[in-house]
Amino acid sequence: MEIELSKMETKLLDTVQYKLVSDEHTVEMNVLIGKKISLQSTGKFRCQSCRNFVKKLFAQGFCYNCFTSSADASPCIINPELCEGHLGKGRDIEWEKSHHVQPHFVYLAVASAVKVGLQEAHKFQPGGLIREHRMP
Ligand SMILES: [Zn+2]
Ligand SMILES: [Zn+2]
Repeated sequence: MEIELSKMETKLLDTVQYKLVSDEHTVEMNVLIGKKISLQSTGKFRCQSCRNFVKKLFAQGFCYNCFTSSADASPCIINPELCEGHLGKGRDIEWEKSHHVQPHFVYLAVASAVKVGLQEAHKFQPGGLIREHRMP
């Protein structure tokens, strides 16, 4: 089976369920826990934005052109303080409106230190965070 690696889909049930999804295949990852699997690279790299095959990827899987121009690779994704979507600016204002100029939650999480997080309201799962950090 040849499958293009990408960020896995997740679903929160009693435990988090992971799926590796591509155009042709879906692999339920949780059933593979504890089993021996083998992976072999094809050596092919495909930009997740323009879908062209390239020699090198940048950031989360972009060709250099998309890394420097695509809204999906905007610096304000990693550094929200740089976002100018609320000012009507950005690489793609429609993308900014649908992704960043939306209600968000600011939250605190305690792990090895206190972490300040920012999450789009429709993706926020406070129950999941509470369960993750609850001690037995
Ligand atoms: Zn590209
Ligand atoms: Zn933005």
